[in-house]
Amino acid sequence: MKTDIEISQNSELLPIGKIASQLSLGEQQIEPYGHYKAKVTLPVANQDTKGKLVLVTSINPTAAGEGKTTMAVGLGDALSELKYKTALALREPSLGPVMGMKGGATGGGYSQVIPMEDINLHFTGDFHALTEAHDTLSALIDNHIHHGNQLNIDPRQITWKRVLDINDRELRHTVIGLGGRTSGVPREDGFDITVASELMAILCLSRDIKDLKERISQILIGYTYDRKPVYVKDLGVQGALTLLLKDAIKPNLVQTIEHTPAYIHGGPFANIAHGCNSIIATRAGLNTADYTVTESGFGSDLGGEKFMDIVAPRLGKTPDVVVIVATIRALKLNGGAAKDELATEDLAALKKGAANLGRHIQAMQRYGKPVVVAINDFTSDTEAEINQLKQYVTDNFHIPSVTCYEWAQGGKGAIDLAKEVVKAADTPHEFKPLYSNHDSIEAKINQIVTNIYGGDGIELTSKAKKQLKQIVQNDWDQLPVCMAKTQYSLTDDASVHGAPTDFKIHIREFQVKLGAGFIVALTGNVLTMPGLPSHPAALNMDIKDNGEITGLF
Ligand code: ADP
Ligand code: MG
Repeated sequence: MKTDIEISQNSELLPIGKIASQLSLGEQQIEPYGHYKAKVTLPVANQDTKGKLVLVTSINPTAAGEGKTTMAVGLGDALSELKYKTALALREPSLGPVMGMKGGATGGGYSQVIPMEDINLHFTGDFHALTEAHDTLSALIDNHIHHGNQLNIDPRQITWKRVLDINDRELRHTVIGLGGRTSGVPREDGFDITVASELMAILCLSRDIKDLKERISQILIGYTYDRKPVYVKDLGVQGALTLLLKDAIKPNLVQTIEHTPAYIHGGPFANIAHGCNSIIATRAGLNTADYTVTESGFGSDLGGEKFMDIVAPRLGKTPDVVVIVATIRALKLNGGAAKDELATEDLAALKKGAANLGRHIQAMQRYGKPVVVAINDFTSDTEAEINQLKQYVTDNFHIPSVTCYEWAQGGKGAIDLAKEVVKAADTPHEFKPLYSNHDSIEAKINQIVTNIYGGDGIELTSKAKKQLKQIVQNDWDQLPVCMAKTQYSLTDDASVHGAPTDFKIHIREFQVKLGAGFIVALTGNVLTMPGLPSHPAALNMDIKDNGEITGLF
């Protein structure tokens, strides 16, 4: 099997105008970036949505990922093959994971969006624009303090940190403003990764430029010495910040190896932010295609839950069907198999670990949505393992489970899945929200913990309790909650696998994201600036004298 980059480089790319015309988008509706990428003009996202929406989520993954993007791409190509007008709506990759450990975010094998090297490296510049806009606000805050601090901002209570789209642990905690009177006012600061920026979440939850500006103006940047909140609108810079995002807000259009159109736009982290591509891109899909296939980050406990509770209400549309990607290897890990033995047949571990899939099925069914299980086939899977897993799904849930070969075969390896998805999307069902925004913050989190994670309650640190009081006093408790939790476990402890019961979720801290419109509940040890591993992916990469790229997965 060739590497992802080799497959990508050997694929034929159609001019982007041709891809756009498959979605009936004319020349006036796209702004080409070179031959194979384009921005799509905003009115495309503003019409009435008509298409069907497929949400791809997964079980608790291993560190390598279980193939949601790969499956979404394969499913999109399969739907195209069945002659449905299909679009993908996916996130843009962050350079942090690209250079670090997890790799790119353009799928794999014969189910990829291309040109993968462009999409994984800088793409159309959205993340750079976002980083600059974010740090412009940081500079404006410090400049305000330097020039007299009319707003009385307490430098010790500034919540707006700086960002960079690189995994750089050295920058987690910094001191800035050193160098005397002319170099600003010293204070403690720190960096998050760009995809953890509230601005990224805002970009992805905005409907249009007006909404974007309104949300930016509401960002809470910190507190005054007498503990009053300070907002971007107090600084009066929402116009400038929105301006810096004038192109970043437009969705990008590319294609899969099999020429299915793909909107790729925005990329908030799924453990600390809401983990889904922009609403604008998904709406563009729903307006231009019969089927839009979208992915939410990590397992259904993170991206899946957030799609239903945070994204769907703003999108104005809930999924018509949910696809849960499962792999034999991750279920064996969930069943207690050792990390380095996941390629060996182990029916006992798989039997135990299947309960993790069960929990994710129940979680998504809780919303009243039809669920289809997609078993992402790895060459190491045995027939006995696959059969046992399918039997588990049939016996316990009576829903379809389909073995998929999209990685090795492209769209034709996911035709059976596509047929089940179409069938499920046509069954009548009703969306059942998990909580009401009028519930208290604690009640909302309790709903998530008991219904989605399978736990039995929450515990708050004294710091979190104090912050919660402040949230209630400021009337911010009517917002949805965005859980920041490890992706490896249904609990807040990454080492606890499977389908645990009788556990509590420990809320360490709350963060108020008024622009994004949610309250982040930080659990366990979730980091907002990751570090690089001992052998970062960057060590394998190179570019030849003729410009050919190697080692990019
Ligand atoms: P996710 O979106 O769930 O994080 P990805 O689709 O990005 O996962 O896949 C993670 C990695 O696994 C990619 O490098 C991809 O090429 C690889 N992969 C996905 N499916 C398969 C498969 N069936 N066999 C081998 N490798 C796969
Ligand atoms: Mg993915």
